[in-house]
Amino acid sequence: MLSQRVKNLKASPTLALAAKAKELKAAGKDVISLSVGEPDWDTFESIKAAGIKAIQEGQTKYTPASGTPELRKAIAIQTEKEVGIKYSESEVTVSTGGKFVIFSALQSTIDPGDEVLIPAPYWVSYPDMVELAGGVPKIVQTSPENRFKMTTKELESCLSSKTKMLIINSPSNPTGEIYSLAELKSIVEVLKKYPRVIVMSDDIYNRLVFTSEGIAPHLLHVEPSFKSRTLIINGVSKTYSMTGWRLGWALGPSEVISAMNRYQSQSASCASSITQAAAFQALTGSQEELSVALKKLKVRRDFVFTELQKVSGFQVTEPQGAFYIWPNISSFFGKSFNGLKINGSKDFANALLEDQMVVTVPGVEFGQDICLRLSYALEESRMQEAIERIQRFTEKVHG
Ligand code: PMP
Ligand code: GLU
Repeated sequence: MLSQRVKNLKASPTLALAAKAKELKAAGKDVISLSVGEPDWDTFESIKAAGIKAIQEGQTKYTPASGTPELRKAIAIQTEKEVGIKYSESEVTVSTGGKFVIFSALQSTIDPGDEVLIPAPYWVSYPDMVELAGGVPKIVQTSPENRFKMTTKELESCLSSKTKMLIINSPSNPTGEIYSLAELKSIVEVLKKYPRVIVMSDDIYNRLVFTSEGIAPHLLHVEPSFKSRTLIINGVSKTYSMTGWRLGWALGPSEVISAMNRYQSQSASCASSITQAAAFQALTGSQEELSVALKKLKVRRDFVFTELQKVSGFQVTEPQGAFYIWPNISSFFGKSFNGLKINGSKDFANALLEDQMVVTVPGVEFGQDICLRLSYALEESRMQEAIERIQRFTEKVHG
């Protein structure tokens, strides 16, 4: 019954683990989920009110497939503030979440056999989405020595005449690392030798940063001429805690954006009109609640970083953005828990769940087996409890 295309398609591991955590909770288990990447605080009141108002005022019909003109304009203005480049409304498209926008962008640019460079560790969905577009995911391995950020040498070793796209995600899911302007500059210099390569800059966490600038550096800052070959991806899910509202966008060359509009018009039609009104409020309203949320997030980052350093066998670096921490747990490999050998991150995560009811995402899902991803966007007392449980678990692992 099934198409070849979906026969080997796996479900998103992050969503699957989050669903598992919910199931365990519903079954009465005292589970702590550090699995899914979403803020635990509520969507801000002013945004909710804008959604309710849109319903009451009858903004409940189809919108253009590319999104409402007001929202596209607000996105262009916001993006100009972030990357210093002007975009017209025809260079912006909106759809149902950053994830679908990435999917639609790949469908619109990738032909069978085209290679898409994906630095590992990567967000779980990139390789599968590239394959669904008929492309070939080419994984660029990075190393802990460079905080899992791609060096120019690593990049150059994977570039070829087959390369069609490079995906950059900074701050990174899963590491929370940010590329500096200097690092982006050196990447840009390499890419200048490959004019065919499009850059997909997944900026979904770009405002969730703990640096004084309040925004992650961007490759368009260092090389504005790359506007003609860069696709920016962003959305409201993470910044405004609107993961369930489903809204994301892309900005880029109008040729690609109009192809994405056609693709979206034949698939999702448009993002929810109500969500678009709420997203307009999110972007144009006061950003006060966002700065409060960020301060809270930074306290949690400091807490989790300090506490995880005390867990023996865990090696952690301080994340600079997003809400993930990415401890190296490879010191446990080859050791045993309850007679079972821990041979990789999946074994570690499974044993931790079984023993302590703490859900984490094994690094192998992100293309890097030696680590574990923990999402720390949850209440501090629960996070503290989670770390105590992790500590108790590690004490039961023997060499
Ligand atoms: N990119 C990255 C790196 C992410 O972690 C996510 C989270 N799901 C997305 C894109 C897409 O998010 P959404 O579809 O909720 O906008
Ligand atoms: N991006 C989030 C995560 O990595 C949400 C889940 C998903 O879309 O896969 O957990």
